[in-house]
Amino acid sequence: MVPSSPDSQTPLSPADRVALLELPKLELHCHLEGSMSVGTVRALTERNGADPRQVWPNGFPEAFSFDGFPDFAAQYFYGLSLFKGAADLATATDDLAAVLARQNVRYAELTTTAYTHFLDRSIGDGTPRSALTVEDYCEGLNEGRRLAAARGVEIGWVIDIPRDIETPDQEITVDFVTGSRVPDGLVALGLGGYEVGFPAAPYADQFQRAIAHGLGSVPHAGETEGADSVRSAIEDLGATRIGHGVRCLEDPTLVDLIVGRGIFLEVCPTSNLLLHVVEDLADHPFPSLREAGIRTCLNTDDPGWFATDLMTELVIGSERFGLTLGEHRAMQLDALAASFAPDDVRARLSAELAT
Ligand SMILES: [Zn+2]
Repeated sequence: MVPSSPDSQTPLSPADRVALLELPKLELHCHLEGSMSVGTVRALTERNGADPRQVWPNGFPEAFSFDGFPDFAAQYFYGLSLFKGAADLATATDDLAAVLARQNVRYAELTTTAYTHFLDRSIGDGTPRSALTVEDYCEGLNEGRRLAAARGVEIGWVIDIPRDIETPDQEITVDFVTGSRVPDGLVALGLGGYEVGFPAAPYADQFQRAIAHGLGSVPHAGETEGADSVRSAIEDLGATRIGHGVRCLEDPTLVDLIVGRGIFLEVCPTSNLLLHVVEDLADHPFPSLREAGIRTCLNTDDPGWFATDLMTELVIGSERFGLTLGEHRAMQLDALAASFAPDDVRARLSAELAT
């Protein structure tokens, strides 16, 4: 690729925008619980008779915004509290699938945090963030996945351990994902939550269990912590893909390890900007990651809460990082190779992207 100079921002032509929209796409880093639009939150609020005034005293906003992490967390946990039954998960998944379908996303690996729905009995006052049963959770995800497929969007699920609330000795999430009752299309175990003060290594045995069970290893690392966190995710957790990983550039020997093993990074520019991993997109390391030979693709992370979508991220790729349409196409093929898509989806998408 030809990297953009730090200050360049070339507007995408209307024709190129149409071509980018028509390109078959994959999304590998998107949290179901972070994907809810204002419309979805409003619909679930009305369905469940919840009171949104605790977080939005003046009514629903046009788009979500937040002032610092506590404000973000209050809104996020309000959203979580709306999952009262299987239908709510199905609605959230289908609403997201509608957005993905409009952007020609054909395959998405969506992360969901089971722990905060029905596994957690230990946060704060002990009240679960939402009150689903295992059956509700699996049924809701299965129905959402069926509705998404009807829209032309195939879904694989990543279930993640929230590292800042599920302690390593609990082993609750890993017991669930390696058990007999899991949602259809489960492909990997993730590790989410705040990295600082919550290292990856204590979860090594859990990731070994998941890998032995046939699941992928896709932890978050190198977002709020540096290169050591990324190295630990690879060496201790057996990661083949890393959520974010953008701070790996702090250690050239780690870059060699990532390139040598073909480790794939799921990069989320708008998320990095809003969570202050970078202060300006002009400073984003994406072009440097590519120049270093690291495989990567662009993603939304929490599209509802961050008011973004995949097209927005890909346009950033074109306008800020200088990606050509050919490079976008190659990046989607690389994302497909790094995905856990089933063989039929892989063959179909690979043929579509080759034309
Ligand atoms: Zn994430």
